[in-house]
Amino acid sequence: MLYIDGEWRAGKRNEFFTVTNPATSDEIGEVANAEKIDAEKAVDAASKAFTTWSKTTAYERSKYLSDAYNLMIERKEDIAQLMSEEQGKPLKASRNEVQYGADFLLWFAEEAKRVYGEVIPSARKNQRFISIKQPVGVVGAITPWNYPVSMLTRKLGPALAAGCTVVLKPAEQTPLCAKAIIKIFHDVGLPKGVVNLLSTENPEEIGNVLLTDYRVKKITFTGSTAVGKKLAAKAAEQVKSISMELGGHAPFLVLKDANPEHAAKGVSLIKYLNTGQACISPNRIYVHESVADEFISVLKTRVEKLKAGSGLDETVTIGPLVNRKEIEKVDNQVKDAKEKGAKVITGGKVLTEGNLKKGNFYAPTILSGITEEMKIYQEETFGPVAPIVIYNDQDDIFAMANDTNYGLAAYVYTENLSAAMHAFEALNFGIIGINDINPTSAAAPFGGMNESGLGREGAREGIEEYLETKLGGFQLN
Ligand code: NAP
Repeated sequence: MLYIDGEWRAGKRNEFFTVTNPATSDEIGEVANAEKIDAEKAVDAASKAFTTWSKTTAYERSKYLSDAYNLMIERKEDIAQLMSEEQGKPLKASRNEVQYGADFLLWFAEEAKRVYGEVIPSARKNQRFISIKQPVGVVGAITPWNYPVSMLTRKLGPALAAGCTVVLKPAEQTPLCAKAIIKIFHDVGLPKGVVNLLSTENPEEIGNVLLTDYRVKKITFTGSTAVGKKLAAKAAEQVKSISMELGGHAPFLVLKDANPEHAAKGVSLIKYLNTGQACISPNRIYVHESVADEFISVLKTRVEKLKAGSGLDETVTIGPLVNRKEIEKVDNQVKDAKEKGAKVITGGKVLTEGNLKKGNFYAPTILSGITEEMKIYQEETFGPVAPIVIYNDQDDIFAMANDTNYGLAAYVYTENLSAAMHAFEALNFGIIGINDINPTSAAAPFGGMNESGLGREGAREGIEEYLETKLGGFQLN
């Protein structure tokens, strides 16, 4: 069902599409397929609701968000089970994501109350300047499948806290998770029209309504750089405000004074998290030659212990890729690297044994001897492959790491404080993990430089994306 103006309803054409489990290819549900007229109705509802929602107090909005947080925590296990079924990640990771997703509701429930203006000194005796912050208006939000819950709340939390209303278009692979989140807002009694949900197989048609309707004042998007660029170009025609959380190509630097065992443990956890389908996943692993043997040996041992299968099985530690197309893309990058001289340390193939053949499974893989001409070095991978580049003292490691149009996350392992600070300052990425593979939290700013995006989500910055600054100049008698 779509959720428009506080009601669950079918689309105008009464069409539906099926949702499948990527681990088994089984059908797990059907959802309504929104088309243009449904999107227009959702914008009507959000626009009407904005006139009253934007005038509620910060305390009222905060209460809805904290109620939603509490309900989401109450439903944590159910939502996690649904996520593992629909998106494929292991249950432990799903539970972590539900918690991370809920954290944005609580964080922004608090931030709603901290939207301040300023009194600005004037050079003229009879003039006073006051600036205030106001919500931007109706927000069009478009989200991906890889984090099907937290990518929604990371937008909904700050947008609602600021006083905006939202029309959400989630990814077509994960509309059931989106429905579960919107149902939380419905069940806490959020006024009708404040959030609206359009599941669809027609992303461009729905996107175009959001991009061309003047009543939609902001587009917030998380997804690939290719789609983000198209949306940004179209949004520019109406000079709409945009926030873009796009692709990444994260370097992972293991410096000569790193603890290679600790670094290998870090890669084994972050590279294979969500089967490599994360925007902050390490994609280029640079290891100093002096620690390379130990690093590779520890990483190999850890990776070979990963167990692939359905995320619903508690013993599984790595789930499927989202679809066949992604399997082909990963396999193609691995074959290209092999042809150009890379060595397969482990993995390097599609998994088809037993029940795995029904799903989209790729073996957790380590490649060494990666060079610049290989596709895997140049493109975002989005799969469970760790490509290793061994470097020496002659290489300018920061220049190599920065040599990309992306700029989302980077990681550095070193036991040397000066080297760590130097790396932190030298790397052109929005998020840097220093001996840390989890530099994310609702309280910390998340976002990329260059072609990885515009704006920040979470943290104090997160709510600013949904606010306009208005200046008042007052002349006194
Ligand atoms: P995608 O193909 O760009 O899709 C993202 C969303 O955009 C989906 O809802 C998709 O709908 C929609 N979409 C596609 N074409 C559209 C169009 N012409 N008009 C309007 N909407 C359109 O990305 P994805 O494959 O879902 O996600 C993976 C990408 O997201 C990776 O590049 C990853 O790095 C990035 N990502 C970034 C962050 C971050 O915070 N920076 C976080 C997570 C993911 P359909 O599902 O119907 O195609």
